[in-house]
Order: sequence, then structure tokens, then C-alpha cells
Amino acid sequence: MKSNLSKARRLFLDPPYKPGSTAFLHAQPFDTWRLDFALEDGEDAEVELQPQRIEARLDAHLAMMGLSEPRKIIWTSVYRPRSVTLPSYRRGRVFFAGDAAHQTPIFGGRGLNLGFADVINLTWKLAYVLNGQGHDALLDSYDRERRHVVRNALIDLAQSTIFMSRPTRGAALMRDAALQLSPTESFVHDLFDGHRAPKREGISLGGTDDKDPPKGAFTGNPLPDAALQPATGGSGSSVFLYDLLSQDFTGLYFSAQGKVPDSIQRFFAQMKDKAPFRSIVVGQQNETGAHADALDPDGAASKKLEAADGAFILVRPDSYVAGQWDELNSDQIATTLFSNLGRGAP
Ligand SMILES: Cc1cc2nc3c(=O)[nH]c(=O)nc-3n(C[C@H](O)[C@H](O)[C@H](O)COP(=O)(O)OP(=O)(O)OC[C@H]3O[C@@H](n4cnc5c(N)ncnc54)[C@H](O)[C@@H]3O)c2cc1C
Repeated sequence: MKSNLSKARRLFLDPPYKPGSTAFLHAQPFDTWRLDFALEDGEDAEVELQPQRIEARLDAHLAMMGLSEPRKIIWTSVYRPRSVTLPSYRRGRVFFAGDAAHQTPIFGGRGLNLGFADVINLTWKLAYVLNGQGHDALLDSYDRERRHVVRNALIDLAQSTIFMSRPTRGAALMRDAALQLSPTESFVHDLFDGHRAPKREGISLGGTDDKDPPKGAFTGNPLPDAALQPATGGSGSSVFLYDLLSQDFTGLYFSAQGKVPDSIQRFFAQMKDKAPFRSIVVGQQNETGAHADALDPDGAASKKLEAADGAFILVRPDSYVAGQWDELNSDQIATTLFSNLGRGAP
């Protein structure tokens, strides 16, 4: 259907042509639109899939929206939300990822995203173990970390699913109340906004169930990207933090003057000898004889990363923060790095 309708997703609760029901409209590429209708108790999926029933629903819905553009139905199917996860995503040399490992309700658009995140978590670990840089225990952390994230997503999505499907009288009452409050009380919007950003994952990283995981605002979460300036100064073109990361672990050291004390330089050199590690020094300025690899002249990136002068952030190859310290603690950093390689003490 060709239409000037904006591409925003639309959720229809309690549409007048079918009171109490739910429908979604999603724009797809190439003038294609996906319209999801919730089946109510007592409605038979086989019957509702018959072409004349589909046409009748579509007519009623498009009429409600005031749309009369020519349209062609290209695909129909029945979808049942499922909240399932395997008890383990690793069986020896076999790893489960994506829908083979877990299936989440679609009310939140997380299924494919979780699958991509699984693979991002797993691939660097496989490469490290195959290259001899990580121990087999590193592969177990894939299972532990991803199941934690999926479990949190399932809890999150259960709320949206209950709101959409109203499985009990209580859920129906709650939804009616939320809809009535919605025009004036913004706090209820969270209840039906299935596409809100996921909560911070906050996974405990490393090859073991560490009892005392490193603290820090972003530990266990993806590193936020931030704009920096090239260390050479130059024309003001930005360099992004993510451009500086690599397949190694990255140690981000924040130094206002761009200087790195000798003891810390020695520590960085030791780490490079023992592990796939590289250091990046972020300075507010690059004084003569300083070592900054990138500049944060106005301190905006440091503020965003909650990293003051002297702070250190250890970033994994998948851009997750393995640990964050207000000042460089070489013992803790080495222990965290080696635990994230599935290895014992350095
Ligand atoms: C209606 C609907 C809406 C969705 N909306 C979203 C959304 O907005 N955002 C989002 O993130 N996710 C969404 N999802 C979920 C998303 O589509 C899935 O999570 C994702 O496609 C899973 O990808 P996958 O590669 O793990 O599995 P699949 O996409 O299922 O791919 C597995 C492939 O393996 C093939 N296969 C199976 N068995 C064999 C075999 N023995 N040999 C060879 N090949 C085989 C299958 O044919 C298939 O092509 C939605 C799902 C549905 C049903």
C-alpha cells in the first residue's frame, strides 16, 4: 500500500471496530505495512486466517484510520508469543544462539537484537580460545552472560505481553485503568511502551562467578561511545571512542594533562606482554612530552563516561566494560583482565 503515513509504529488499544482488542501497525520497506491483530478468547486462528475474514478486519482498521489507498495482501500468518530459554547455551563444542537458544515475545522488538548480541558475545571468545589467548572457561562465560541478559529481557517483556494480551481479569482491569490515566499521567506510559530502551544489563563479567566484581558506572554494560579530538590537534574533526577500540582489550586511561606516570607506563607494557591489551590515553590537553592518543578538550567525553582525571576503564573486544576504576589499581585490573580471558591469576 502506498501511503504518506509517517513510518512511526502505531499501537491501537481498544479500537472502535473491535472494543477491547489490540492491533499494531509497522512500516516495512518498499511500501509494505505489517498489521498485527490480537486474537481474542474464542477466536479460532484457522477461521480468522480465511481471506474474507482478513479482508474484513483490514477494511475496518483502515477505515478507522481514514485510509482508502489501494492495497494488496501479500502474507498472512498466526504468531504466538513464547517466552522460552534453554537451560544452557553451551553443550561441549556446540553453542546455541538466537532463536535456537531463546524466544521472546515480539512486544519489544528484542528477538533478533538478542540474537545479534549473542553472536557478538561469542565470536571474540571463540577466536581467543582458538588463538590460544583465552582458556576454555572463557567459553562458559558466553552461556552465563547471555542467559542473564535473556532472563532480564524475558522479565521485561512479560510486562508488555501481559498488557497487550490481558490474560486475566486483573490484567484487563489494569490495562483499562492505565488507558484512562494515560492522557494525564505519564507514569503509566511505561506499562505499554514495549519498545522502551532495555534496562542496563549489568552482567557480571569474567570467566568465573566473581564474588566481588569490579565496580563502576558502566561495568558489565556496553561502553557508551563519545566524540573526541585527534591528539595531533588538527582541524577539529572528531574521532570516536569506538574507532579507537580493537580486537584486543583496551585500557582507557584518563589524564587531564595527557601525561602517564612511569609506573603506569610500565604496567601497560607488562599487560601488553602477557595479554592481548592496548592502552589508549585520553587527555584534555597534550602538553609537551605527554602521551595522549586522543583529546577531550571540554571534558564532555570524560563526564559522559564518569571518568575523572586518573580514571581507568578496561574494555573487552566486544566493547563491554570489564571494569572501571577511579584510579589505576594494577592488581585489580590485571585480575579482572585475566578473569575475562578465562585464565587464573596473571
Ligand atoms: C511477527 C514477528 C515480529 C518480530 N519482530 C521483531 C522485531 O521487531 N525486532 C527483533 O529484534 N526481532 C523481532 N522478531 C524476532 C526475530 O524475527 C527472530 O528473533 C530472529 O529472526 C531469529 O533469528 P535466528 O537467525 O536466530 O533464527 P531464524 O530467523 O529462525 O533463522 C533460522 C534459519 O535456519 C533455517 N533452518 C532451520 N533448520 C534448518 C536445518 N536443519 N538446516 C538448515 N537450515 C535450517 C531456517 O529456515 C531459518 O532460515 C519478530 C518475530 C516475529 C515472528
